[in-house]
Amino acid sequence: MPISNQIDLLDLVSKYNVPGPRYTSYPTALQFTNEFDSASLLDGLYSGHQTPKSLSLYIHIPFCHSLCWYCGCTKVITKDPASADKYIDYLEKEIKLSLSTIHPDSDIKQIHFGGGTPTFLLPEQIYRLGDIINRFYKLHPDIEFSVEIDPRRVHEGHIQALKEIGCNRASLGVQDTNEEVQKAIHRIQPFEQTKRITELLRNAGIQNINFDLIYGLPKQTLSTFRETLKNVLSIDPDRLAIYSYAHMPARMPSQKLLNEDDFPSTRDKLSMLIYAVDTLPHSGYVFIGMDHFAKSNDELSKALHNETLQRNFQGYSTHADLEMIGLGMSSISQNSAIYRQNEKELYAYYSTLDSDNLPIQKILELTDEDRIRKNIIMQIMCKAELNFDRLSENFGINFQSIFKDELNRISELESDGLIIQSENGFRITKTGRLFLRNIAMVFDSYLSQHRNKKAYSRTV
Ligand code: SF4
Repeated sequence: MPISNQIDLLDLVSKYNVPGPRYTSYPTALQFTNEFDSASLLDGLYSGHQTPKSLSLYIHIPFCHSLCWYCGCTKVITKDPASADKYIDYLEKEIKLSLSTIHPDSDIKQIHFGGGTPTFLLPEQIYRLGDIINRFYKLHPDIEFSVEIDPRRVHEGHIQALKEIGCNRASLGVQDTNEEVQKAIHRIQPFEQTKRITELLRNAGIQNINFDLIYGLPKQTLSTFRETLKNVLSIDPDRLAIYSYAHMPARMPSQKLLNEDDFPSTRDKLSMLIYAVDTLPHSGYVFIGMDHFAKSNDELSKALHNETLQRNFQGYSTHADLEMIGLGMSSISQNSAIYRQNEKELYAYYSTLDSDNLPIQKILELTDEDRIRKNIIMQIMCKAELNFDRLSENFGINFQSIFKDELNRISELESDGLIIQSENGFRITKTGRLFLRNIAMVFDSYLSQHRNKKAYSRTV
């Protein structure tokens, strides 16, 4: 049965549309601290050197040619291609310094170039970065290598270079195909351009194609959103990420350039999400969770089915269990004990590397309690269910006794039709899958510290 027929969702939205984390990690980046002892941090990192591991590499390329007004990413606006030469010099330096934190037999199973705009790099700069990666790391033969592509800033030379350095998945930023919406967000990208670049990628052998869309942008209506979805489905992407626009002008100053009178109402915004969730399965897509959809034969759908789906700083992933090495300005690295984030300003990133130090700005050391809550929250986000007995067994705890308060609070979620409880757990309903963040928030012990700080986007 379509979600739209099940319940009066608007009432639920007015109750649950509150600021909350997206849970790409737990604890979230707001818990990171810049008060840490570098020497003991490095000791901890170097001790990771003892055993070979499979790793995921994230490389942040911060440069963009022009500013999209809705953007919440860490970026540097410039038109100077030489900026990227200097940046790659520093990436190489960071790689050399960080090599001693991993065992020489560790291999890389996943690479992701994110941004900013990775295709800001010229083809020769892409070849150079690929060569550096190959020189310093051992790559797994079945590596997943994905790159975020701005269709407005890419040509055959980029695509050839990406293919030759091993890229096998492309994520294209589309956002919306309607011209009025594109003008309102300062990102003009004719749909024909997106279509042509997708064809070029496929012809070059980069067959796995993701599209990123956003709902809740100025000038969007249900009708323009349906048209956007129809357009992108005509190119048959393997995955669709349909993100809720997060309006946080206090934290993202460029969003002040958007005309607030042009935003769709909460009702219209919700109708776009419901339209996607209700109709995409008819086109062969599985609702993975929150904002992700994938073809039923895609690895993400298989991971959901096999209960191996994970979540990391980039969203849903089939490889999120891997230790992550983040390189470049603002990147986050993660292992089971520590999260650490690089300097978020280019100047600070360069100057720390100039003094031969890893450019770490903030860290978080996970406690035992963090690890248990992280597991709970990731199960809610990825499996849409929780089994109390399994958690008790896995962590050697009495789940029902430790999480007594949380379990009292979830009965309200059940009355609202978001979960169904059983003797030793609960499962999340189809309606509840629209409110995964709210359900996870019950188990977040840090939330009260940030509730009034405009730190998070709204959950719907
Ligand atoms: S949306 Fe992408 S291309 Fe636009 S400014 Fe942000 S990072 Fe750059």
